[in-house]
Formats: sequence, structure tokens, C-alpha cells
Amino acid sequence: MPAPLSMSVPDCYQVAVPSPLRRLFDYLPPAGHSREIAPGSRVRVPFGARELVGMVVGRHPRQAATPGELRAIQAVLDAEPLLPPELLELVAWAADYYQHPLGEALASVLPVALRKGDDYPDLRTWRWQLSALGHGLPDPVFPRAPRRQALVRLLRERPRTTAELRAAGIAAAVVQALAKLGLIERRADPTTGDRAAELLLGEAPPSLHRDQRAALAAIELHGYHAYLLHGDTGTGKTEVYLRAIEKILRLGRQALVLVPEIGLTPQTLARFQARFAHAIGVLHSGLGEAERARTWAAAREGRIGVLIGTRSAVFAPLPALGIVIVDEEHDLSYKQQEGFRYSARDVAVMRAHRAGVPLVLGSATPALESLHNAASGRYRPLRLTERPSAAAAPRWELVDLRNSRLREGISARALQAIADALAAGDQVLVFLNRRGYATTLLCHHCAWIAGCPHCEARLTVHLGARRLLCHHCGHRRTLPSQCPSCGSAELQLLGQGTEKTEATLQALFPDTPLVRIDRDTVRSRGGLQAKFQRIHDGGPCLLVGTQMLAKGHHFPADTRAVILNADEGLMSPDFRGNERLGQLLTQVAGRAGRGDRPGTVLIQSHYCDHPLLRLLVERGYPAFAERLLAQRAAAGLPPFGALALVRAEAASAARAEALLSAIRAAGEVLDAEVQFLGPLPAPLEKRGGRYRYLLTLSATGRTALQRLLPQLAMRLEILPEARGVRWSIDADPQEVL
Ligand code: ADP
Ligand code: ZN
Ligand code: ZN
Repeated sequence: MPAPLSMSVPDCYQVAVPSPLRRLFDYLPPAGHSREIAPGSRVRVPFGARELVGMVVGRHPRQAATPGELRAIQAVLDAEPLLPPELLELVAWAADYYQHPLGEALASVLPVALRKGDDYPDLRTWRWQLSALGHGLPDPVFPRAPRRQALVRLLRERPRTTAELRAAGIAAAVVQALAKLGLIERRADPTTGDRAAELLLGEAPPSLHRDQRAALAAIELHGYHAYLLHGDTGTGKTEVYLRAIEKILRLGRQALVLVPEIGLTPQTLARFQARFAHAIGVLHSGLGEAERARTWAAAREGRIGVLIGTRSAVFAPLPALGIVIVDEEHDLSYKQQEGFRYSARDVAVMRAHRAGVPLVLGSATPALESLHNAASGRYRPLRLTERPSAAAAPRWELVDLRNSRLREGISARALQAIADALAAGDQVLVFLNRRGYATTLLCHHCAWIAGCPHCEARLTVHLGARRLLCHHCGHRRTLPSQCPSCGSAELQLLGQGTEKTEATLQALFPDTPLVRIDRDTVRSRGGLQAKFQRIHDGGPCLLVGTQMLAKGHHFPADTRAVILNADEGLMSPDFRGNERLGQLLTQVAGRAGRGDRPGTVLIQSHYCDHPLLRLLVERGYPAFAERLLAQRAAAGLPPFGALALVRAEAASAARAEALLSAIRAAGEVLDAEVQFLGPLPAPLEKRGGRYRYLLTLSATGRTALQRLLPQLAMRLEILPEARGVRWSIDADPQEVL
């Protein structure tokens, strides 16, 4: 970001505009506007034939501006900057690091309402009071106007809001009349509250157990220190966060708590609210636009002591930031997978570092990157091993699928275990990472298969909705009753999805309540909680679901979990496949082990002898992760090397490939330290009618990649091969798709 030139007359502003062009645009101040526009303020500007909301990031003398005719800013939308300089700098850093245009990055960190140019929300409480003139009046003032007289009397006692006056029977017209006479006026309350004074401990916290005490004592509250708090689900990580936050609030500062996309359960929120009363603000995608903007503004004005939010909350303004906490730091939802592809976890580290405040990354299954950082001394490891509640750690059992008789993908052993658990009055969680009924619709007569016309993929059968659906591009059509190719009615539904598992189990256990949790049955956060509530009331029950089931929720009664298929994770083409499988299995196990009874986790696999699977079930996630780290080190993969992807997609495979070949050729000349792999077709080569290719860049460290990527981005903008090709750059990609 260019430094403001304070010596010269500021007569030209640099504006970051939400456009794919990677540069700033110069604008003249609006006609008749004499006050300086501070960086971080939104402005409405003409852009081509359109009008856009951009953000001022700097200024320079007019002579230094780009030649040509400069246009003027149309309107300044903020009286004071929305983003303070340190946040502007953080976003600028992230935009650079993740190779995204600054204007788009800035737009995406604002709440939608503000991004669109809405007024900044007014959070103040406005009250009517007597004006200086009104105070000087004799009593009674309006002997013949009783309602006016009543209003004056009420305001003599104390200032009141419009709503209070209405409740006291004063009509709005009466208020307006006295305001017009200049006898009364409206005043807003002071902007900020005292956060420490608001710290009402709604409940007495439990006394910490030994590990928790040690962890809390280790967390230094002043200056940047990074901690990796590693403890199984239920070992009391959240309690450690709560205690650390309490200390920060007592210092009059604010806490930022990041949670995964669906990780914020009402139970967790209730715990924060019980502890910190009304000093809490929550930001997540389920909120309405206006509410999001208000919470964001409240954080910005320091009215909130603790901000809990999903990914984008990492960019929320917090003037008195005192600690940053990232819960379930390994979670994939922290990485934005399109557009501004930042990792909120990694940005959180940078934010804490720049702000000079402590950072706590917590997880039952830390990412390999974080374990590596802990081992190398960049993070200080804090370990929780005791469980506050009596429950023992869950037990694992591997069920070999080879040659076993399966009932729609469920082994006899698993069925028996489910029956036993239900008979004992327990709840059972059945996990399958695929929604829908069947993965393939096949004609038994002519071998026709229902494929997506736009993707290189099969259509999934959704039986309840009588529909075929492409899970990659959303293409849908009615489920045919006859083969469109030969007319035969002998259509087979192959492969399992959660809908089929639900039907199978419901048929086998007709008297047991069954709840299915996946994206088809749960459309909203509220919907998910309603489903969980039914389970929460206790009693034997079957839960079937995708990984949605594995997140966030605390099951008080579950004692058994069944993983229907671990093979996909084991055999994944993505080098992170094994890591994710280990995290998922451990997280599911953590849910099963909650409450006061130990849980059992059954894992079905055709590869029960797989060394990694054995290691995980016999020695647990830490040993498993250590082995994976050794493999990554040997292969030079992250965290021992850095990766970036250039993705390209086009209507023809040749075009996508040609662009990436040109980029590779350019890159090889520019930097000898970076290795290239590809262009190769993406694992799903055709999606939504477009062909997708990948170019992988690797280097021993991030520095070389960070040097090269901006140069490649510049070429991508101007290369003739880029015409008609959609491309993107992904630094530290989390999924190689
Ligand atoms: P995690 O975040 O690691 O899953 P929690 O902090 O949610 O663990 O703790 C699990 C359960 O144990 C919660 O019900 C919590 O209220 C309780 N708990 C945590 N710490 C203590 C403690 N020191 N004493 C008693 N109960 C505790
Ligand atoms: Zn057929
Ligand atoms: Zn498709």
C-alpha cells in the first residue's frame, strides 16, 4: 500500500475497486468536497459504464496520477474509515499472499450490506431530552395542552426513547411538534461501553483440572505468542478458551474466537453467553444481512467483548483485540475454496502476530502443519489428556469387509453391534460420506448408466425426490422409470448413499426413531439444530449422516459410531486424504465417547491391514500424524515444502491446457527454484461443461513461490492464451481438485 504523501496537496485518491483487475484506480475528490477522505472509507465511483462501491486506500498528488482523464468520486459513504489502518494492511497482505485483487478482497471482508453501499448501522440509542430552551420554560408550560405538558414533565424526569414515550401514551405528532418548536431534542448515548464493567460472570466456572491449569498458566496475555492446544473432544479445551478470554476481558480488551462453518452449536454459544452475559457477538453465514452488519459494527465500536464467528470474522474490526482463538483449527472450512482463497487460520496467525496478541489454535486433531509448527518451536504445544467427565476414551474396532456378507453396505458385525446398542437403550451414529440414495443408475439390460451431460460424472439417484442429480454441477432431471437407451424397466440402483442407508436401517429397526443428517435433510443451521434437539432428548435412536454429523455437536447419550466406509479416504488421490480420514475418524470417535459412558467406533474397510489405519486405531492420532509427517518430509510435501496451484477451465481441454503450458514456460524462465508439475487434467476433468486443468508449483519454502506468483498473475492477465479461459491461483491449496 502506497504511503500517504502528507507534504503535498492531496488531490487524487487511490481507490480499490471490486474488479478482477489487479490494480488501484485514481479518482478526483467529489465536486465541492473539501474534507480529506481517510483510507478505509467507502466511496461510490464510476467504473466504466457502471457505478461501484470501492474503498479509499491512499492518495497522491495529481501529477503523479495515471495519465488520461480522471473521473471524480461520486459520493463518500463513510464519515470515518470503516477499516482501521492495521486491518487495511492485513487485508492487503492477504490479497498479496493469496494472489487476489485488493478491491475484491476488501469487498469480501465487509458485511454484504456495507459492501453494497448501505449506510453504516447506527447502534446508538437515541433519547429525547429538553433543549436549553425547553429547560428554561416555566411550569406548567402548556396549561391548555395536556399531552404536550405530559411530554415536558416526562422529559424533566429523564431523557426517554421514542419507544418509551409511545408506551407512555405520547403520540409521535406531539413529539414532533415540540421538536419543531425547539423545546426538545434527540441525543445519542456515548458510543462505547466499558467492557470490563459488563463482565458479568453468569455462572461460577468449574475448578480446572491439572492439564487445564497448566495450559492456562502457560498462556501469556501480553505480546504475540502462539499456542497449539491439543486435546481430544471432551478434554476441556473450550473451558481453557473461556478462562483465557475472561482474563482478556478483565484487561478491558476484546477476544476473537473463530469456529468452523457448522461448528458453532447452540450448546457452545450458550456456554459463552452463560459465562460472559451480554458481551458476546456472533457472526456467521446464517444471519440476515442487517444483523451481520450490526454485529460487525458493534465489534468495530468496541461494544462487543467477545466476537465468535466463522471464516470471514478473522477480518472483523476489533479496536482492542487482546487474544485470537481458532477452534478446530484443522477444519477445512477455514480455507475459502473460491474467489479470495484465504485460510482464516493462517490469516489469524498473521493478525495476532501483527497485533502483538496471543493466539490459541485448538483441536482434537491438529493439522499436520500445526503439529509441525509446534515441533519446530513456532507454536508452543499445550496438551490436555485428562477428561473432566468420567468417560473413558473410545475403543475402536476394525471390521474387514473382504468377503463379508453385506446388507446394502452394512456388515453383519455392524448390524449386530447396532442391534446390541439399541437394545441397551443407546444411540447409534452411522456415518457415510455420500448423500443421496444410490451412486449409480444402471440398466441391467443394456448397461446404460445415467451420466451428467456436463460433467465427467455419474448422476446420483435421489429416490425420495424422484430425481437424478449431479453433485458437481447441480444438473438435475426426473428419475426415469425406463432405460432411455433401450426402454427396459430393469434399472438398478447401485452404490450407497445416506438415503439408502436410512431406508435399510429403518426397515431393519422399524421401532427405533431415525434421524438423517445431510445437506438434503438439513437446509439451514436452524434445521440442523432442530434435528439434533430431537436426539438430545435421549432414548435409543439411530442417526445416519455425512460428515455434518461429525462436527460440533455433543451427543450426551451416543456410545457407538459406525463408519460405513473408510476406503475412500485411504485411497484418495489427494495427498491430504489420509490426514483428513484420520481427523474424521478421530472426531467421530470423540463424539461417540462423550457423556459418562465409553464409546465404541466400528470402522468398515476392505483394507483393515493398511498400516496407517492400524496405526490410527492402535496408537491414536498423534502417532498417526507423526508417521504422515515423516512421509511428507520424505516427499517434500507441505509442511516441508510449499505448494500453489494454477487452475484453468475452458470450453475445450486444449485451451485450458495451452494456457497452463504457457504459464509453465514463463515460470520456468523466471524462477529456477520452483518446480512445476503439469498441466494435468483435474481429478474431475469435465465439470459443468468446462474442462479443468491444474498446474502444480512447488518449492522448498513459501518465499520462492511468493516471489513468482505475482509475476505469473500478471502474465495470466495479458497472455493471449487466457482468452476464454477461467483461471485462478491457489496459494497453500487445501484440496487438489
Ligand atoms: P472440548 O472443548 O475439549 O471438547 P469442553 O471444554 O467442552 O471440552 O469440556 C467437555 C465437558 O466437560 C463440558 O461439558 C464441560 O462443561 C466440562 N468441563 C470442562 N472442564 C471442566 C472442569 N475443569 N471441571 C468440570 N467439568 C469440566
Ligand atoms: Zn437399457
Ligand atoms: Zn454435472
